[in-house]
Amino acid sequence: MLGAVVGLAVGRPAMSLQPIGDLFVRLLEMIIVPIIVFTLLMATRELSPKNLGKVGGQVVGLYLATTAVAIAIGLAVSNLINPGTGVTLEQTDVETEQAPALTDQLFNIVPANPISALAEGNILAIIFFTLAFGLGMTMVRAEVEPDSAVRNGIDTIFNVADAGAEVMFKIVWGIMEFGVLGVFALMAALFGEIGLEAISAYFFLAMTLTVAVGLQITLVYLLLLIRGVVGGSPVDFLRGSKEALITALSIRSSSATLPITMSDADENLRIKERVYGFSLPLGATVNMDGTAMYLGIVAIFAANIAGASLTLFEQVAILLTALLMSVGTAGVPSASLVMMTAVLTQVGLPLEVIGMIAGIDPLLDRLRTMNNIAGDLAVSSVVAKWNDAIDLTSGVWADAPVGVG
Ligand code: ASP
Repeated sequence: MLGAVVGLAVGRPAMSLQPIGDLFVRLLEMIIVPIIVFTLLMATRELSPKNLGKVGGQVVGLYLATTAVAIAIGLAVSNLINPGTGVTLEQTDVETEQAPALTDQLFNIVPANPISALAEGNILAIIFFTLAFGLGMTMVRAEVEPDSAVRNGIDTIFNVADAGAEVMFKIVWGIMEFGVLGVFALMAALFGEIGLEAISAYFFLAMTLTVAVGLQITLVYLLLLIRGVVGGSPVDFLRGSKEALITALSIRSSSATLPITMSDADENLRIKERVYGFSLPLGATVNMDGTAMYLGIVAIFAANIAGASLTLFEQVAILLTALLMSVGTAGVPSASLVMMTAVLTQVGLPLEVIGMIAGIDPLLDRLRTMNNIAGDLAVSSVVAKWNDAIDLTSGVWADAPVGVG
């Protein structure tokens, strides 16, 4: 908040603080790959292939279901607020970069070369190879003699992963100390750049997204999932997720926030590695409730600007396209601007709209990304509850803070 106030007061000169924020993002990016590999290996140590299938099915099923609900909420709120009415279409240069085909994306989950997947930070490919490697180790371990060199070797690799994960979380804590400054710098630079005019020009669009995100988080995650299924207090859930939510809000990348999301899941929400080690890296790449919701909202916004009205059938088509597109959206800043081309083309709406809203996107992206992360943590908590992998007697769920008493 202080960053936002400073940015609005100082204006564009506040943008010179950007490098401090960029440094924060870089520090987080530095540990994404190792933290995924170590925690995912730990998850495979505890999960048999059968259990992994069960947990995986629940995670993917809930991810899709909550995303569909998010889009429906986005469409419903847009139909009420009707953002875009009264706005005239500006001719803007849009880079109509094609959204990548879903089949290509599915194919790319299998890395042709695991080392280059690691080097490029291709999260889905890393998940695929690490899971195969970890499950391979557990299977071989079960087959060989107890004192054999192979079994000792496998145990050593798992122990290294265990130690590696601990060390990574230590580093995350260090980065979070610096994050206070990083978040301040990013907020000041953002508000210094966009200023109040841009916000007021797209006020109704911003309001629609804000209301929809608010509904999704309070009704779907907090009440339904946390209170209804997990049984924990919604306030505790928010308290336990706050570092990840604030980081998502300031750096607008699900992927770069991942180390902090994992640290919150582990230390505060007390979810076991065997669930979050799998669900969170996957969620950071495929589960984008805020993004999906926004794709639907922009479709209505574009229709209003173009003076077209969308039939119920068209809105259902938008729901399905937005669902698929959000799965394919990368967890990086403003990634959904690219995916929007597919949704707008689907219902024949003008792509110029993307150019119009690009200026305000640095602001709206924050809300979407925060919602994306909240969704990952909420679903992980639910699946953890279903699989007896959450400890509701410690962390934020217990009265006393961790380590006290
Ligand atoms: N910035 C979002 C994320 O990383 C993606 C998007 O909606 O543009 O989760």
